[in-house]
Amino acid sequence: DSVFASVVQAPEDPILGVTVAYNKDQSPVKLNLGVGAYRTEEGKPLVLNVVRKAEQMLVNDHPAIQENRVTTVQCLSGTGSLRVGAEFLARHYHEKSIYIPQPTWGNHPKVFTLAGLALGRSWERTIRAIVLLHACAHNPTGVDPTSDQWEQIRQLMRSKGLLPFFDSAYQGFASGNLDADAGSIRLFVADGGECLAAQSYAKNMGLYGERVGALSIVCKTADTATRVESQLKLVIRPMYSNPPIHGASIVATILKDGDMYTEWSVELKAMADRIISMRQQLYDALCARGTPGDWSHIIKQIGMFTFTGLNTNQVAFMTKEYHIYMTSDGRISMAGLSSRTVPHLADAIHAAVT
Ligand code: PLP
Repeated sequence: DSVFASVVQAPEDPILGVTVAYNKDQSPVKLNLGVGAYRTEEGKPLVLNVVRKAEQMLVNDHPAIQENRVTTVQCLSGTGSLRVGAEFLARHYHEKSIYIPQPTWGNHPKVFTLAGLALGRSWERTIRAIVLLHACAHNPTGVDPTSDQWEQIRQLMRSKGLLPFFDSAYQGFASGNLDADAGSIRLFVADGGECLAAQSYAKNMGLYGERVGALSIVCKTADTATRVESQLKLVIRPMYSNPPIHGASIVATILKDGDMYTEWSVELKAMADRIISMRQQLYDALCARGTPGDWSHIIKQIGMFTFTGLNTNQVAFMTKEYHIYMTSDGRISMAGLSSRTVPHLADAIHAAVT
């Protein structure tokens, strides 16, 4: 049975309801002047030829999307997508607790608790709860499960009826490949079960300030997906009504056009590769200095961050003496580093640990 079986159809929004009322009206003289959208002389909406052409370029949709089992709503970047998903679950999912990784992105606990979910504690006895998973490039550790481990996680979660909620904020930054980085989510979608995914385009398209993101809820049937979508609208309407259009149009243009998609993949790979080369350079610089300790985790970790292992005091020392700023848990963003600044960082780390 679907875990969303008890979700009921939400009432229409009063303003948008004008069109619904119009559609129901059987009169031959009916006229809808409620909606400010372009209509042809025949009163029909116009699909521009160029839009139709662009749409045809949209290839390789996932079967779950073709089966209309996935409801997707544009949200305010990754954070907004997490929040909308959490608010929906707080209202409509029978379990109100969510398990988040430890450690995890500092904003996660706040997003989920303010949305009305409780943070799960006693893991062993848990069934049916929600589990937050970083789709790839775990923040802050830079350590992801292997494909085999993802499969074990999937089997364990499905056997306990745990609901996966993926946070995908760094797709492309783990392996340099968008498809490979979507592997964890696709594994869960492939078994036909439910899951949620919060997608951010902030980092992988460099559109931080545009706040482009999407929440997708994969359901078991198209009928459930329709009802879930109606409830998502009820979450969003009183929160910010509608998302901004500009950044999303840029993302949509890139995703729909084969050539632009390829170009994006190449540019994204270049970003990922530069980060990887920063890892190697920092590692080499520490080895060259004979800095005490094993620093191989710097090259083993993936994604944007290195979880250095430096403690709060060492971080404070590096800020005070070397003017290097990072979160107090010792996490450094490799993306902020360059060949020019690696020696300075290596000097600082060396001084902090000796
Ligand atoms: N999830 C994780 C793990 C993150 O690190 C971030 C950003 O730092 C986000 C989600 C949300 O990013 P944004 O709201 O900017 O898309």
